[in-house]
This record gives sequence, structure tokens and C-alpha cells, in this order.
Amino acid sequence: MKKILFLSLIILSQKVYSSVVIDESFWIKNPSIEEINLLKARPEFTIDHMKADGFELYGPKGLEDFLKQNQIQYRLLTNISTETKADYPTPEEIEKELKTMALTYPGIAKLYSIGKSVKKRDLWVLKLSKNANVDDNRPEFKYIANMHGDEIVGREVMLRFIRECVTNYGTDPHITNLLDKFQIHILVSMNPDGAAASTRANANRVDLNRDFPDFSTSDNQDVLGKRAPETQAVMKWQAEHKFKLSANFHGGAEVVNYPWDTVPDRFPEEDAIKNLSLEYSRNAPYIAASTAFENGITNGYSWYEVNGGMQDWSIYYRGDFQVTIELSNNKWPEYSIINYYYEQNRSALFGLIEKLDTLKR
Ligand SMILES: [Zn+2]
Repeated sequence: MKKILFLSLIILSQKVYSSVVIDESFWIKNPSIEEINLLKARPEFTIDHMKADGFELYGPKGLEDFLKQNQIQYRLLTNISTETKADYPTPEEIEKELKTMALTYPGIAKLYSIGKSVKKRDLWVLKLSKNANVDDNRPEFKYIANMHGDEIVGREVMLRFIRECVTNYGTDPHITNLLDKFQIHILVSMNPDGAAASTRANANRVDLNRDFPDFSTSDNQDVLGKRAPETQAVMKWQAEHKFKLSANFHGGAEVVNYPWDTVPDRFPEEDAIKNLSLEYSRNAPYIAASTAFENGITNGYSWYEVNGGMQDWSIYYRGDFQVTIELSNNKWPEYSIINYYYEQNRSALFGLIEKLDTLKR
């Protein structure tokens, strides 16, 4: 009897977590409601960036056959050109720059690794704060970028944000005040292997933003289990800090997305998180001007459902208020336009951190 119970427990625990694997990627053109529902009913498929004329669809081998069998219209997603890719720094070049910044500004910049990717690249976090080497009781904030490897703008915007902070601390009163008051942690690239290969998934083909525990699914235990190393690193990191507020940068749309992603229920503190999202979009004029989203913000679930996402996990399990910010319609634009995105977002980036002061949490 005991043996049977033990075996069934093993089977149960294996059923609970399964990674969402990406082998095939498509754009689904003008789907009907029936087609959307057919795809939604398959947990191994991932729908992303729902737009007026279609959406991205990811899944394991056999996805294309499934689309053909069901006569669903699709096309391949456009590849990023080799020339465009080549203009961007490599994860190794970024690592070098972060190390240099930490060495040059030791009082206000501390570099630490929260773990390694599948291909053993360090997941570097740069902490910006007065007395950066000491973790104290000042409020903690975090930015995470480049969770999807082919969504590159967030990583670049974060590098520019770090550069501006370290070089202007002590002379710019606003930046000085921010770093004096708060502890700001920045994971510039959660998926360096994906960035190196310009793929959405990690090097084991796992979609990291479908890999977290989710209170609305059977994978609802806040445990590391067999999750991707990048996911586990973030989970452990979050256990070591008292993050109160954070943002997770993506690309493929231009909008601030607030919880919940996984259920239609109203988020208990919806007014607070909506205001915070609105303020971000107002401070980033091109997002506020979005024609696809009113005022450049959206509730996650009403856009499209995400199971296993980092945002809802952060809030539900760890009490860390998190929004997902989609920075650019083009996931991997020409490198020369990155400064434009930074300029457009910079005051919103500073403004969001300031919100630590007003959050009643
Ligand atoms: Zn993404």
C-alpha cells in the first residue's frame, strides 16, 4: 500500500510541472474565435502578443502539423537579420562592461551573480545604491530584462540606465537621492543564452515566462523542482531580498501590462497597480500614444492569458508588486534606435522606482 502511494505521489509530482518547450514558432493570421479556443485548449502551445490581426504561437515539434490539420492560417515569424544582430554587444561584452562599472564605482555599484544559465553563463545583477556592498533595510526595487532572449531592447535600455546612474551619482541631485534612498537591483539579461542565439527560449528550448509556479494551475507549489536554471535562479534570488516593487521588460508590443495574467479576477490592489502603470506610460510618451491599448496600459488577462508567468508569481507568492513592460513593437530593432528607446523611457524608469515611497505595503 505504502509503495503504491509513494509511486502515485511520484507520478503526481511529475504531472504537476512540465516546461513549455519551443521548437516551432508561427504568426497566426486573423484567427476565428473557434481557432483561438482550439489553440488555447492545448497547454503545450503558447500564445503571445495578441494583436488585431493575429498573434504569435509557439510550441513543440508537431505544431505546424496541428495547424495544417486544423486548416489554421499561419506564416513563419520573420528572422532577425545577421547584420542587425552583429551590431549588438555579446553577453560576454556586457559582462565585461558590468565588471568594469562595478570596479570603477565600487561605492554605488555592486555586481553579483544569482546563478548560471544552461550554457553556464552567469546571470549578473548590478546593484545600484549608496553603500552598495551592504544589504540594509532601505526599500528594495528590481528590474529584470531580456527574459525572452530575442526581446533585446530591455537589456540595452537597462545598460544605459546603469551608465547614467553611475556616472551622475553625486552631481545629479535626483539620481543621488534615488540611490541614497533605495536599493536598486538590475538583472540585465535573465536569458543570456537566448540573447546569444536570438531565441525566445533558453538553451533547453524552455519558455522562461511560462516556467514559474502558478496559483491557478496544477503547478501551484512554490518549489524549484525541475524548472529551468534561470527560473530557479530568480526564485532563489527573490527569497534573499525583500523586493517591494519590480518590472519585467519584454518586446513585441508597446504597453504596460498589470496583473493578473493568469485569471480574469480583479487584482485586489488594482487601483494602485493601474495608477502606477498609467504613470509609467505617461512618462514614456510613445507608450501612452499607443493606438492598440487605451492610455498604453492593459490588464494582462484581458489581453491574453499567461500561465506560469513571472509577474503573477512575484506578486502572489512573494508579495513583490510587478508589472510587465513591453518596450518595442519590434523585438530586435536596428541598434541605432536603442538610444531613442532609452530617451523615451528614462523618466518613466526613474519615476517607477520613486513609487517605492508611496506603496502601502
Ligand atoms: Zn516576452
